[in-house]
Amino acid sequence: MNINFDSDKDARFETFDYLNKQLEVYYASTSSLPVSPKLNQEEIKKYVHHSFEDPLVYKDAINHVIDGLKKFTVHTPHPNYFGLFNPRANFAGILADTITATFNPQLAAWSHAPFAAEVESNLIVEFGKKFGYNPSAIDGVFTTGGAEANLTAILCALNKAFPDYAKDGLQSLDKKPLIYVSAESHHSLVKAASITGLGLKAVKEIPVNEYLQIDISLLEQQIKDDIKNNLLPIMIVATMGTTGAGAIDAINEIAAIASSYNIWLHADAAYGGALVLSDQYKTLLGNIHLADSITFDAHKSMSVPMNTSMFITKHTHILNKTFRVTTDYMPKEANDLQVTDPFTHSIQWSRRFTGLKIYLSLLIFGWDGYQQVIEQQIKMGNILRDKLLNSGWFIYNKTHLPIVCFGNKNFESDANAALQVSKKIIESGKAWLSVYKINGVNTLRACITNYASNENNIEELVGLLNEIAE
Ligand SMILES: *Cc1c(COP(=O)(O)O)cnc(C)c1O
Repeated sequence: MNINFDSDKDARFETFDYLNKQLEVYYASTSSLPVSPKLNQEEIKKYVHHSFEDPLVYKDAINHVIDGLKKFTVHTPHPNYFGLFNPRANFAGILADTITATFNPQLAAWSHAPFAAEVESNLIVEFGKKFGYNPSAIDGVFTTGGAEANLTAILCALNKAFPDYAKDGLQSLDKKPLIYVSAESHHSLVKAASITGLGLKAVKEIPVNEYLQIDISLLEQQIKDDIKNNLLPIMIVATMGTTGAGAIDAINEIAAIASSYNIWLHADAAYGGALVLSDQYKTLLGNIHLADSITFDAHKSMSVPMNTSMFITKHTHILNKTFRVTTDYMPKEANDLQVTDPFTHSIQWSRRFTGLKIYLSLLIFGWDGYQQVIEQQIKMGNILRDKLLNSGWFIYNKTHLPIVCFGNKNFESDANAALQVSKKIIESGKAWLSVYKINGVNTLRACITNYASNENNIEELVGLLNEIAE
């Protein structure tokens, strides 16, 4: 065999060094690139290699990939990306992914990766405490994203409502289970309902009030009606920071309903959960500790690379009940220890060391560093709101989170107005923002999602908007 998967020491050093320089150029000068690419699929298809008959040397392969990414990617690390919750990855998070790729620890069994497993279970407890859970009753698992965490929540609610669910499955249920979400909730929940076999129709979307929060009295009325019709409410989802407009559901009142009808309360804090990191703003999350479980996406507001999310619950036996299976082939070295094999708590089996991205970031920046960054982003949101109002724009959403949905007088009569402005901005390559419909009006949506977005970037965005809307 003359193939060398390892390369050799000098060549490795040189290649690492070369890659480093390319990445450094990107990291240091992201803001000089156009924020988004031209979407020409033909051109991209032509650029991608389709046959692998003639191997490249490392340098050429690296150049091919880096140039491809530079040219054909929306640069979410750009400070003028005011888009969805896709942050610029902080440097510690990038290092963490590099370390993880090299050690490649296997987090299915505790005994194969005890350091990684203990780091993750400690992080779950620390975040559970931040959310106000009792330190002695916290369990959870790292997931690939909020979608997997929400799916995990539904499975836990099913296993709580039906003690024999894991064994007998959906077919054995004598009543149809229902899940309640706000009309502004994330669509990963309906997707999860379809994956579990409950079906899309098992999700009841409750209308929202003028603040885009779930309407509490309609929620309770719907639950009463469904019980009367012999259906079984098993879960209510409170969205803590909606994806579209940053609305935070009134969790204290929802918790009262959940408790009086004995329904699992899930807090989808994928985005807004970051508020727990700020002493000043954490009260906006109300009594989130009343929730039976919480979804929190670190890859949104903690600026770590993708696929870093958590499912946290105060029911310490439920994950085990939901996911435990016994096998003959998994390692047995830890059988006599009081430890948890992550695969018995998780949808995933083989799993990477996801938590290291948060662990290394916290080791270096501390909770205090995150508090500063979250509060800075909220401040930038406030500045954006003020500048827009000063230029005569209307604001359509009310939230402390740094998401601003806005428009001008043309937007209410012309559904295309917002789309046209956003199209022009995106095509200019100078910024990125999206369109979101609020009460039937297409509005422009700008979100501060990057710790590096400063007042100048906001000035630039508002300048562009004023120029284009004229
Ligand atoms: C983003 C988001 C999700 C889905 O999370 P992913 O990490 O994209 O899987 C779920 N809920 C809310 C409220 C979100 O904003």
